Amino acid sequence: MSNERYEFFKVIQDYLQKAARVINLDPAVEAILSQPRNEIITHFPVRMDNGEVRLFKGYRIQHNNLLGPFKGGIRYHENVTLDDVKALAAMMTWKCALMRIPYGGAKGGIKFNPREHSQSELQRITRRFTHALGSNIGPEYDIPAPDVGTNAQMMAWIMDTYMNSVGHVNKQANRGVVTGKPVASGGTVGREKATGQGAVHCITEWCRENRFNLEGSTYIVQGFGNVGSNAAIILSRYGASLTAVGDHSGYLSSPEGFNAHKLAEWVKAKGSIAGYPSGQPITREEFFATRCDIFIPAALEGQITPVEAQAISARLVVEGANGPTTPEGERVLISRGVTIIPDVLANSGGVTVSYYEWVQNKRSESWELEEVDTKLELAMKRAYGEVSGLARARDVDMRTAAYCVALERLQTVYRERDIFP
Ligand code: NAD
Repeated sequence: MSNERYEFFKVIQDYLQKAARVINLDPAVEAILSQPRNEIITHFPVRMDNGEVRLFKGYRIQHNNLLGPFKGGIRYHENVTLDDVKALAAMMTWKCALMRIPYGGAKGGIKFNPREHSQSELQRITRRFTHALGSNIGPEYDIPAPDVGTNAQMMAWIMDTYMNSVGHVNKQANRGVVTGKPVASGGTVGREKATGQGAVHCITEWCRENRFNLEGSTYIVQGFGNVGSNAAIILSRYGASLTAVGDHSGYLSSPEGFNAHKLAEWVKAKGSIAGYPSGQPITREEFFATRCDIFIPAALEGQITPVEAQAISARLVVEGANGPTTPEGERVLISRGVTIIPDVLANSGGVTVSYYEWVQNKRSESWELEEVDTKLELAMKRAYGEVSGLARARDVDMRTAAYCVALERLQTVYRERDIFP
């Protein structure tokens, strides 16, 4: 479907409204949360490798900072719009509240295709955007992270630009201005796989509740970047088989199962799944119709409309991506008895380990992988249990339940603190 016509922010506002009714949310709290607090749009010039200057459009939306600093990724994609970034920023507020992380919600983006630029251009675009944002970001104010089209290297450039712009005295204290950095530059072990890992914790919890055996089961993944590839690699360790996969370059099927690890290595080297020597090319329609037990959308929003929802054979859809299921698609899936583990829960492992990175930066510590993994597992299982428990108690779907848990926490804090002045 066309991304352009999907009114993502309106969808998020409707989810907020639906959950607000379930828990009788204070109308004042609902009104505050229904709009972002700050919307920053900046046009900034960057010199290209050929000497020409090109103007870029960047966004940073700061949705809410009741629970702590604004927090959220930065996306580089040709379809980035203000509407998308507003939706994604609001979702970060719900995620941090649900995960009991002392952060608010934000999101940023630049509207361009990073695949069309050299590393040196990407570096100048990233540094110039950071400079344009100036003091609108900071380790105690607003903390970016990777999202679609951005990675650890870009976070290192943001950190370096910020550190060198704000003065020398507190230089090291400013490492926490971004998370998802390379480990040597102050990142944490376990961050790169964290979102995929968190999604798999949700899957194993669902399997436990539903007495479903992952060994010998099948799954398909749309989007084989950070989230999709890590989820696939971790899930394959449980004996589940990856039988179809797709990304921006196309779709592949392999009834006998892909080696997720090898496929991820290929994508790292080549930039996409195109040309991977095993598996048969299939169409997008054939991909969605592939017989499987679990489907992990891990690409972009608005992918599962009623058409795809009718075709999906999985019992479980685990939203690695943000907003992959349209409300109409969701209605079809639910009517067909498919469970959806919603984005706000399923992909919150990323921001959870980002928080661990930020804590380590504040304390000048570096934790062992086991410590990060154990903390993440506990956090994901607690959140899954709360959402699943509320869904059963109130007889609502998992998405509404996740919103309810998050909104109840935000409401409690608004009630305690009230509105200033
Ligand atoms: P990424 O850039 O590493 O990967 C994105 C993937 O989507 C790539 O495989 C790309 O080819 C594919 N893709 C792009 N356009 C597509 C299209 N039109 N059709 C099919 N596939 C397409 O990004 P990521 O970090 O893995 O993020 C993926 C999703 O997960 C996004 O919705 C993002 O907001 C969400 N998310 C990411 C994190 C994180 O820690 N990186 C955390 C939470 C949520």
